[in-house]
Amino acid sequence: MTVELISVGTELLLGNIVNTNAQFLAEKCALLGLSVYHQCVVGDNEERLSETLKTALGRSDIVILSGGLGPTEDDLTKETCAKVMGFSLVEDPATKSRLEQYFANGIWKEIPDNNWKQAVIPEGAIILDNDNGTAPGLILEKDGKRVILLPGPPDELCPMFQSKVTPYLRSIQPEMIFSRMVKICGVGESAVEEKLLDLIENQTNPTIATYAKVGEVHVRVTAKVKSEEEAKSLIKPVIKEIRSRFGDYVYSTREDETLEGAVVALLKKYGLTVTTAESCTGGMLAARLINVPGVSEVFKEGFITYSNKAKRKQLDVNKGTLKKYGAVSEQTAREMAMGGVFATTADVCVAITGVAGPDSDGEKPVGLVYIACYMNEKVWVEHYNFRGDRGKIREQSVVKALDLLRRAILDNYRK
Ligand code: ATP
Ligand code: MG
Repeated sequence: MTVELISVGTELLLGNIVNTNAQFLAEKCALLGLSVYHQCVVGDNEERLSETLKTALGRSDIVILSGGLGPTEDDLTKETCAKVMGFSLVEDPATKSRLEQYFANGIWKEIPDNNWKQAVIPEGAIILDNDNGTAPGLILEKDGKRVILLPGPPDELCPMFQSKVTPYLRSIQPEMIFSRMVKICGVGESAVEEKLLDLIENQTNPTIATYAKVGEVHVRVTAKVKSEEEAKSLIKPVIKEIRSRFGDYVYSTREDETLEGAVVALLKKYGLTVTTAESCTGGMLAARLINVPGVSEVFKEGFITYSNKAKRKQLDVNKGTLKKYGAVSEQTAREMAMGGVFATTADVCVAITGVAGPDSDGEKPVGLVYIACYMNEKVWVEHYNFRGDRGKIREQSVVKALDLLRRAILDNYRK
């Protein structure tokens, strides 16, 4: 089945906001085995929206629209779709009472008049209650075509898609789609593809696709099947094969697990506490770790030692080391990591020191970053020459630091 996405909103057209809904919807549709052949963006204009919708209905089985379901004058998606598809508009009592409830529980004492507009729906439409806002989602079915209307705010659209649209789309499809993810860190995308080339070239069912993320590559294995058991039997051996080809570079095969999540899980598994000692990343590494719920068990303290003085004072980095080798050096990274452990009595410390740019420090090139991990009287040190702007260099440094921590733990406990 083919899907077309129409994002409605003048702000999108003018580039005032990024069209994250289209990215989200396209990815989710692909996961459901639906083919997205067209995406359009159209402003809040009835005539142009009608025209866009008619074109979409002429060439796609399912049209998903996002935005323009709100209570204001410029919100006209529902009215326009009803007109184009020949639905009359009626007030829906259930939606009306849901709106009353929503406002009764909220900060508003009175319901703004124009909000009642959201209780009016195309007669016969399937209503998708909005658990995070006022505008309900709607599904219109006619002449073998399906039009799905979703609210624009991502924090309303995404949960509605997951909990209500996904089961609907699954129910109208003859085949089920299942997929699993293998998350790899420390190998570039082209190298991952090269190592999987034979599998990718011979793929039919399941299929294999790679996605590049900052410092990571995700490999998705997707199968079209008739049952969950069939999915397992098709996908499992492929996951096993990919795992065996990448070994420790695979940090997770769980869809919802992040790199920092995997690191925290490892720290917990071995009962380790961790400290961070950061220079150019200014706390970003600590922030990534603290993203993980339950991290308090393993994370006690993080240092931001930007100046040489701070490195000496907080982490006891040797004055001579800084003078001889500079702040961005293997020796300083080592001493920062050791100093972090001794200053806090944590089991492990990860340190980052580098030149994030845009200006070089005169000696070392922009993008040169040293990362060290100290644990159990051993030090692991790596250095990188990252490319990109200041933000990109700092982001990549954090990913590599998390990954070094992960690999150091695996290395330390390897039998
Ligand atoms: P509301 O009730 O808030 O008016 P709506 O369904 O009418 O919701 P819009 O008015 O089109 O939706 O958009 C509301 C807000 O949702 C926008 O200001 C923007 O922040 C966000 N938004 C809308 N469309 C998108 C999109 N395609 N991608 C990301 N964010 C979006
Ligand atoms: Mg609106």
